[in-house]
Amino acid sequence: MSEVRVRIAPSPSGNLHVGTARTALFNYLFAKKNNGKFILRIEDTDAERTSQAYIDNIFDSLKALGLNWDEGPDVGGDYGPYTQSERFDIYPKYAQILLEKGFAYECFCTPEELEAEKELATKNKQAYVYSKKCENLTEEEKEKLRKEGRKPALRFNIAKAQKAFHENSILKFDDLVKGELHMDTDLLGDFVIMKSNGTPTYNFAVVIDDMLMKISHVIRGEDHISNTFKQILIFEALGAEVPRFGHLGMILAPDRSKLSKRHGATAVSEFVEKGYLTDALINFVALLGWSPSDGQEIKTVDEIAQDFRIGEISSSNSIFEYDKLNWMNSHYIKMLPIEELKEKLKPYLTQYDLSELTDAQYTRMVEVTREPLTLLSDITDAVPYFFGEGVEIEPEVQSDVLDTETSQEVLKEFVAQAKDWEFDEENLHEKLEVFRGKFKEKGIKPKVTMWAIRAAVTGRTRGADMTAILAILGKDKVIARVNSAIK
Ligand code: GLU
Repeated sequence: MSEVRVRIAPSPSGNLHVGTARTALFNYLFAKKNNGKFILRIEDTDAERTSQAYIDNIFDSLKALGLNWDEGPDVGGDYGPYTQSERFDIYPKYAQILLEKGFAYECFCTPEELEAEKELATKNKQAYVYSKKCENLTEEEKEKLRKEGRKPALRFNIAKAQKAFHENSILKFDDLVKGELHMDTDLLGDFVIMKSNGTPTYNFAVVIDDMLMKISHVIRGEDHISNTFKQILIFEALGAEVPRFGHLGMILAPDRSKLSKRHGATAVSEFVEKGYLTDALINFVALLGWSPSDGQEIKTVDEIAQDFRIGEISSSNSIFEYDKLNWMNSHYIKMLPIEELKEKLKPYLTQYDLSELTDAQYTRMVEVTREPLTLLSDITDAVPYFFGEGVEIEPEVQSDVLDTETSQEVLKEFVAQAKDWEFDEENLHEKLEVFRGKFKEKGIKPKVTMWAIRAAVTGRTRGADMTAILAILGKDKVIARVNSAIK
């Protein structure tokens, strides 16, 4: 296989998980690095768990992360269709080949019979493998079972395939990430490749698709390692070239358990809704198993692609540190060009009437409030005082700041003076300095003077730069708010 062709093959039984996003990213990087193709395949053989909303979510999330595919359900390609449910007529043909070659056999066992086998194994404290009861049924026996109305499933004959291509029951392969892996295939059990309803199982469909789509490298989570052994045997039984496999360690929560909802967001779209930037998220996700050669962790996907070597991916599990992601996100928010940031913040400002601000005022508001943002959504609570006529005063601010005699004195003096000021930032800066100076002479700390004004105008004791706030609000609103804070 000369051309590098890799794929991400999500099952649409949920929104795109960050773990799948990482697998997609590593495949994408590997393709970029090797001038290969990155393919999207939708594995929707399990009709009951599939939904169009999840398929849309997978598309949108991968696109939002910048992981654009060269071939896939929407863009097409030479090896389509790229949605498994549209390929159902392809699989039986290959199942038939395996049947004819003796690498598969019909199994008429009912779910109840199989359940009984499993129970017996559990009782005997043995790992369950299928008994191969149906391996050697005669034509007459099969005919009889068919007449009973039983529909056969097809099972893969592991021992036959293993004997045909290997010396003993040990199957080995050289994993791109983990090095040599091996397994005793006697432990796998003859697994079903076609269900009795005529649909393929995951392990079968995936091999047929990877074979027909000429996939050269399969990079996926290590939870698929036991599947890989099964899949290698199917490739061999079909006389197909076996792709190279690479298995990534799992992503664990900070408490080392499986990453799940109770730890926080897990789907890419959830992170986006919470106010994470996709550039930050993808940069963070890349570091789950990969480390930059220059130690510089903040990198774009293109920069990562240049530095990416599959053999250097860590084979161990990675911890999903939400704190680190938060740090990265705040960094990306700080670095984002202002016009982009203004747009990206808008979904989190819908409760305010943005038309109250001119574009210049909105720009300035974003400039002076972006610094402490960890999430884009933090903007919602950071800016209420830029909108509306009056302002909501926090109770402690009322009692601890505005109700003091000093504050009242400051506010009265402020109104008296500020009515004659120009409300541009430069001028306000100078005026406030003189204003503070006067109160300092009377023994009132500049900080205390400013607190009083801030409290009256914003209802808070902390927030963005004061001169910027005053300039954005303008003289009328500021004086009205200060007046209403005066008793
Ligand atoms: N549909 C499988 C999954 O979502 C894909 C596994 C594979 O990459 O083969 O886990």
